[in-house]
Amino acid sequence: MARILDGKAINQQILDELQPRIASLTAARRPPGLVVILVGNDPASEIYVRSKVKTCLELGMMSEEIRLPGTTATAELLSQIDVLNHRDDVDGILVQMPLPKQVDSRAVLLAIRPDKDVDGFHPYNVGQLVANSPAPRPCTPAGVMEILRRSQIQVAGAQAVVVGRSDIVGKPMALLLLHAHATVTVCHSKTRDLPAVCRSADILVAAMGRPAFITGEFIRPGAVVIDVGVNRVTDPAEAARVCAGSPAKQAAFDRNGSVLVGDVLPSAMAERAEAYTPVPGGVGPLTIAMLMANTLQSAEQRLK
Ligand code: NDP
Repeated sequence: MARILDGKAINQQILDELQPRIASLTAARRPPGLVVILVGNDPASEIYVRSKVKTCLELGMMSEEIRLPGTTATAELLSQIDVLNHRDDVDGILVQMPLPKQVDSRAVLLAIRPDKDVDGFHPYNVGQLVANSPAPRPCTPAGVMEILRRSQIQVAGAQAVVVGRSDIVGKPMALLLLHAHATVTVCHSKTRDLPAVCRSADILVAAMGRPAFITGEFIRPGAVVIDVGVNRVTDPAEAARVCAGSPAKQAAFDRNGSVLVGDVLPSAMAERAEAYTPVPGGVGPLTIAMLMANTLQSAEQRLK
C-alpha cells in the first residue's frame, strides 16, 4: 500500500513551528510583514492571494493586499514596489504572477529588493541558489524538500528525475535536489523517451502542467512520486481518463462538473509508488508554508 505524503499535515507542522518565532519577534520588535500585490482579477490568483493573506493574519503577521487594475502600467507597479522596498514594516513583497501582458514582468522582478523577495525569483537570489548560499528559496520546490525531509525519504544518493524546467519550479527543484546530493536529471518537452528516463527515478517530481500525463509506465515500482501539477479538468471524457481507477475523483467530478488533478495519473501513483503526494493536499499547502517561513526569516534577519 503506497504511503500518502500528507501536505496538509506537514504544512500545519511547519506553521506550528513558525508561531513561537513570530510571537517572540512581535514581542521584541514588531510582527513580520508581507505585502502581496495583485494586478487584475484572475480568479485563480485571487484565491491564492486571499489564502496567503489569511495565513499571515492567522499566524499573527502583518499582511496587506494591494489590488491594482488589469490595465496597470509597468511604471505604476514599479513605483508601488519602490514604496514597499523602503517601508520598514514590510519584510516580504510578493507580486502575484502571471502579470497582464502589458507589464514587463522581468523589470518587476528586478525591482524588488532581494532581501524582501520572499518568492526567491530575483536574479540575485537565483545566483545564491545556484551557489548553495543562504537566500530565500522559491517556495514550491522548497516545500517539496520539506515533504521529503519530514517524510524521512532519503535524497542523498537517490536518482531524482524532475519533469519540467521552469524558473519557478523545475530548475530550482533540480538545484535543491542536487544540493541535497541526489543525482538529478531534468526533463522537458524535447526529452527523448520520457517514460524510460522517468522509470530510472527513485524520486520522480512532475511539474509540467499536463493533467495526468505521467501514467504507470513512467513510474518504477517503489519510487517516490511528487506531483507538483495542479490542473482543473472540466471535459467529461478527459475527466473519465484522469479519474480512471479513482472513484472518489470521479464522484467529485460528477458533483462539481470539474476535478483537480496533478500531472500524474492518481491511480498509477497509488498502485506503483512507495509514497506519493496527492492532488489536492500534497505540494500545494507547502507553498504557502514556505512563503510564511521566508517572510519570517527575512524579518528576523532585518531586525537582527
Ligand atoms: P510551465 O508551463 O512554466 O513549465 C512546464 C514545464 O513542463 C516546461 O519546462 C515544459 O517543457 C515541460 N513540459 C510540458 N509538457 C511536457 C511534455 N509533454 N513532456 C516533457 N516536458 C513537458 O509550468 P510551471 O513550472 O509553472 O508549473 C508546472 C505545474 O506545477 C503546473 O501544473 C502548475 O499549476 C503547478 N504549480 C503548482 C504549484 C503548487 O503550489 N502546487 C506552484 C507552481 C506551479 P519545455 O520547457 O520544453 O516547454
